[in-house]
Amino acid sequence: MAKVSPARPIGSRGLPESMRSQGVACSVSESCPKDARVEGDQVSEFRWILERDDPETAARLGQVSTAHGSFETPVFMPVGTVGSVKGITPWEVARSGSGILLSNTYHLYLRPGMEVVRALGGLHRMMSWKGAILTDSGGYQVFSLSSLMKLEEQGVVFRSHIDGSKHELTPEKAVEIQETLGSDIMMVLDECPKPDSDEEYCRRSMALTTRWAKRCLAHRRSANALFCIVQGGMHAHLRRAHAEELAGLPFDGMAIGGLSVGESKELMMEMLAASISKLPTNRPRYFMGVGRPEDILKSVALGVDMFDCVLPTRSGRTGLLFTWNGEISVKQAGYRLKDEPPDRDCGCPTCRHFSLGYLRHLFVSGEMLAAVLNTTHNLYFYQDMMRRVRAAIAAGKYKDFLEERLPMVARKHAP
Ligand SMILES: [Zn+2]
Repeated sequence: MAKVSPARPIGSRGLPESMRSQGVACSVSESCPKDARVEGDQVSEFRWILERDDPETAARLGQVSTAHGSFETPVFMPVGTVGSVKGITPWEVARSGSGILLSNTYHLYLRPGMEVVRALGGLHRMMSWKGAILTDSGGYQVFSLSSLMKLEEQGVVFRSHIDGSKHELTPEKAVEIQETLGSDIMMVLDECPKPDSDEEYCRRSMALTTRWAKRCLAHRRSANALFCIVQGGMHAHLRRAHAEELAGLPFDGMAIGGLSVGESKELMMEMLAASISKLPTNRPRYFMGVGRPEDILKSVALGVDMFDCVLPTRSGRTGLLFTWNGEISVKQAGYRLKDEPPDRDCGCPTCRHFSLGYLRHLFVSGEMLAAVLNTTHNLYFYQDMMRRVRAAIAAGKYKDFLEERLPMVARKHAP
């Protein structure tokens, strides 16, 4: 299938050609690794440049360029599962400082389906998002949400969690769907073994993931970036071996998958460190599905560049706010008369205009606005956190930053 970039510019419905907005094209940098290029005459517009290493930790500052604009790393990507970041408009997501968001292939493939996405001009135009989009391959959801019918060399056969319909997902099809979506960063199809899987199972599963990754590379027809995924279960030596093997292949970036799936935090960080130890330094590292502010701060110190998680948006809908003073649950009765913003340190629209007492009132009344305002604050907080992380790395002081901020974000705040 041919590449489907957004066929028409974003946010330009009804405007004359001369007034239509254009994506920000990046320039080809000589400092980019050659292996980030797509075979043939197509050159990936994706670039990641390492700008600075922190002197005392493994944290790094980098710059990503895509066909839909540039952003710095370490970066947090809000999750727009079905082509919408729940409870917040795309322009507010952009205003919070996000240059990239994540969307889920599995969900979009099942509903609204590729015919609709294609007719509506690709994912960027459909959801009116001018920034970059990373899409997962759909594999994780097939294994976790659908009823899996068959896992074999060719791919997976599953039943939709929506209507029970039968579908097949192969590495080739995962790439085709993501190319139809017009994703800036695509992920390979992988198998994510359960956390208690034994070594033999993880070894076989990892080998399958590598074969699938190679098939994804071979099937790519677009200039979109493609990331591989390091697996290996909860076995450090397998993770090192898998990272080393994948590092030899021309992927644009390297993800670490199969973690934060129920294991302890200590084990998760140990497996992350093992995976990273064999990853190349000249490509971005994406820790999939993580996480909590304290997990992000610790992972940055190990050398992670990209994160995504539903936490800030999902927590917003359940009344949980992340602040520099720790977590706040707006539903607590102790906030009933509190005429202060949730976080005095936060410049988000919620904190600028509303009190904690009012947010509590909205939440206990079941008002839609509660989810909107809480989600807005959480997304601004995450982006502010990443801005401060990058500033600390730029100043060569990430270790001090971590020691000072980690205890603050990790605490649970009582009224
Ligand atoms: Zn705020």
